[in-house]
Amino acid sequence: MNQVNRVATLERVSSFLKRNHGLYIDGGWISAQSTDTLPIFDPSTGQQISTTIDANAYDVERAVTSAHKAFVSGVWSRRLPAERERILLRYADLLEQHAEELAQLETLEQGKSINVSRAFEVACTLNWMRYTAGLATKISGRTLDLSISVPEGARYTAYTRKEPVGVVAGIVPWNFPLMIGMWKVMPALAAGCSIVIKPSEITPLTLMRMAELATEAGVPAGVFNVVTGNGAVCGKTLTSHPLISKISFTGSTATGKGIARSAIDRLTRITLELGGKNPAIVLKDADPKQVVEGLMMASFLNQGQVCAASSRIYVEAPIFDQLVGDFESAVKGLSIGAGMDPTSQINAVASKAHQRKVESYLAEANALNAELIRGSAAPNNEGFYVSPTLVINPDDDLSLTRDEVFGPVVTLTRVADAEEALAKANDTEYGLTASLWTNSLSTAMDLTPRIEAGTVWVNSHTLIDANMPFGGFKQSGTGRDFGVDWLDAFTETKSVCIRH
Ligand code: NAD
Repeated sequence: MNQVNRVATLERVSSFLKRNHGLYIDGGWISAQSTDTLPIFDPSTGQQISTTIDANAYDVERAVTSAHKAFVSGVWSRRLPAERERILLRYADLLEQHAEELAQLETLEQGKSINVSRAFEVACTLNWMRYTAGLATKISGRTLDLSISVPEGARYTAYTRKEPVGVVAGIVPWNFPLMIGMWKVMPALAAGCSIVIKPSEITPLTLMRMAELATEAGVPAGVFNVVTGNGAVCGKTLTSHPLISKISFTGSTATGKGIARSAIDRLTRITLELGGKNPAIVLKDADPKQVVEGLMMASFLNQGQVCAASSRIYVEAPIFDQLVGDFESAVKGLSIGAGMDPTSQINAVASKAHQRKVESYLAEANALNAELIRGSAAPNNEGFYVSPTLVINPDDDLSLTRDEVFGPVVTLTRVADAEEALAKANDTEYGLTASLWTNSLSTAMDLTPRIEAGTVWVNSHTLIDANMPFGGFKQSGTGRDFGVDWLDAFTETKSVCIRH
């Protein structure tokens, strides 16, 4: 790494990494029964930087029991909405005060640029936290006029109330661990639920620190618990526990479907935010500068490890060659290095296993003579780097044209016209996001309803907001996060019918 540019690690961060970590249950750290541990690596060097517990079924049982006890006691669920809102706003303030510490932890365990950790992962999470805290005081039902006339002359009025669903299991992936973690914690707590959250085994540290800050903000003991561990035991025990009323899962489609299958046995409520293979359609009247800037960011932010990333770009023939040239210059100009060096634009991917997976897609493409344009070489160390890569006009049968690669790899394909682009864009089992690049309003208004995706951007891509619902069509998930209706997924609707 370029030591001159490296951000100095805060003492608070170094000492947190060295801690003998336990599990966060009942408002504090406890020793786990499990003696198994999981190493945490710095992706920029491949070196181990911390150790966490690989929780067993008994440990998970303790966390769920604590959350359930807190829920039925009413210590949080029956608190005045304004009190919940105030505590959650204080929680956001605490993140703001500890912003640099959390940003560094995120970069050290996940690999992403410190710039992205500061400006996106922490700063945007703050917006989401404050938005969601405000929803605690906006929960409301309806009054209903009824037409029941039994017995004759009786009159009825009903109303609905939204009640917290109970104990939530939050399952978090490794690409934006702090932000996606808060997308589960905040709506659960705003609605009055308790939560047991399981971060990814690769990136648990920021959520562990956020548990401490929740207690400092005034969230009562047992309402917010963190269990660290692998998916097969810790995750499975948590999501199949009979005291869990709601699962909020973000991760791969295969894992999400497995959890949904087991959830159906108990009819546990479930939201699934899953994978994507997101197309960008670039028409000949688009602004090339805007396209290259927008899609470079959307394709390579966090090394392409973004569910909403643009990974397939379809370009109308008249501007295809020019755009390929512009993308090539942009990709070759990206500097590669450690996330803690703010001048590095491409950083390591999150794990050794993921680096191997992305490289295996590229090796297959190479073996089948696909045209690859690769950016600068990765640093010569044990870090988990993958050079950013463009794949030009790939065959449809290449695995990387259909699978979610989730790395710094994007395909560029020439199409004859908008109709061919639309047909190719929709030819996928996924349906998370898409973008359309054109200066014609009528073309945009014609095409956006025909694109099979939960979010469609026009002349931008990957820009998300707390007030804009987000979720997948098709195999990209079920349910929506964000927006004014977000708490519906964390509440049950009760109808109260009164005879008078
Ligand atoms: P993953 O599915 O491998 O793991 C996600 C989480 O599930 C981890 O915490 C893991 O430990 C846990 N898990 C694994 N098996 C489990 C089981 N049997 N029971 C319970 N939990 C289990 O996903 P990942 O590799 O961590 O993340 C990348 C994936 O996440 C990509 O597919 C990406 O598109 C998706 N993602 C989707 C969104 C979205 O909003 N749609 C956002 C971010 C990431």
